[in-house]
Amino acid sequence: MYSSFQDHLKEELTGIRDAGLYKEERIITSPQGSSIIVKNRPVLNFCANNYLGLSNHPELVKAAGEALKHRGYGMSSVRFICGTQDLHKELEKTISRFFGTEDTILYASCFDANGGVFEPLLGEEDAIISDALNHASIIDGVRLCKAQRYRYANADMQDLEKCLQQARKQRFRLIVTDGVFSMDGNVAPLDKIYALAVRYNAMILVDESHSAGVVGRTGRGTTELYDLKGKVEILTGTLGKAFGGAIGGFTTGKREIIEMLRQRSRPYLFSNSIPPMVAAAGIAAFNLLDRDNRLQDKLHENTSYFVKKMQEAGFDIKPTQSAICAVMLYEARLAQEFAAALQEEGIYVTGFSFPVVPKGEARIRVQISAAHEPRQLDDCIRAFCKVGNKMRVIQI
Ligand SMILES: *Cc1c(COP(=O)(O)O)cnc(C)c1O
Repeated sequence: MYSSFQDHLKEELTGIRDAGLYKEERIITSPQGSSIIVKNRPVLNFCANNYLGLSNHPELVKAAGEALKHRGYGMSSVRFICGTQDLHKELEKTISRFFGTEDTILYASCFDANGGVFEPLLGEEDAIISDALNHASIIDGVRLCKAQRYRYANADMQDLEKCLQQARKQRFRLIVTDGVFSMDGNVAPLDKIYALAVRYNAMILVDESHSAGVVGRTGRGTTELYDLKGKVEILTGTLGKAFGGAIGGFTTGKREIIEMLRQRSRPYLFSNSIPPMVAAAGIAAFNLLDRDNRLQDKLHENTSYFVKKMQEAGFDIKPTQSAICAVMLYEARLAQEFAAALQEEGIYVTGFSFPVVPKGEARIRVQISAAHEPRQLDDCIRAFCKVGNKMRVIQI
């Protein structure tokens, strides 16, 4: 049996390679940071979700180490059997405080948070109205739910309104959007979404994975940016990006929603608790951000500087309001070769192509961090210009 299946897989894999869509893993032999070691060589890292530079921050490492020593390594249980320490509860409270929400439930990842948020809350008589560019985990989570599905074009408010009109007869309506769209870096127009939600009596879920810690003056995400703190029913997010980058996700929002998730959400009920050291480092991350706004300020400065310089150099950059800067190259192979050439120049980035972005919209996604120093940003821009010239993407 396997030999025919093996032939089938080999053929498919060859197809992926031939199309220039094959994804390789590159091995890092240092901690995560603005500079990392790849193939025994230091390179500047511009493709981590390490927005605030917390992945190897001494305060987080210390908090994790202390918890490891005093609370052990793993929980060997799901939360409701014997997998809840005071650290888990404290982290949930800390997250609620950060976002100005009523309650929070932790998951092993945001993929799980999104996988477990729809099915327990909504049924056949309800409607989920989802942005076309939402993260894969939202798409999967929606698939697990019996609610009627509507899809609107990315951030297209006319299209959203059309969907809301079509969904008028349904019992409950939930609009679902990423806060920041990870491939373009644009922020969901939450002010307009909120106005439509009020008008059509709908609720809102925002996935803050790329926006929490980044967007808004103090990094509280899209609800801060649009002055809607406490008004959005459900937020989901990850600890795997700005907040230390280890692992873990959460859903935060209205009290009864979180309470119901604790009763019925399958990834919460049937998957392990996050390790105490991760909870402790998570608490340390949020506490650090509560103290002052230095990291967010530096991230915002770094991002504006980088985008401005790249546009001046002639690169085609998607309009961004986040720390994501999509350098458009359109062809998959060009994006791959461009990224490889940048690595030769000591700049570590990733080319993205189908199926992660639409066909013909390949790009290099540059992610800026508060950990980047000005000279590292300049090195990156210089390398982009050198490779861009050679590959005839820009002319200087
Ligand atoms: C990264 C991301 C996720 C997944 O988060 P994990 O915690 O890594 O599972 C979910 N949604 C969005 C929008 C993301 O960007």
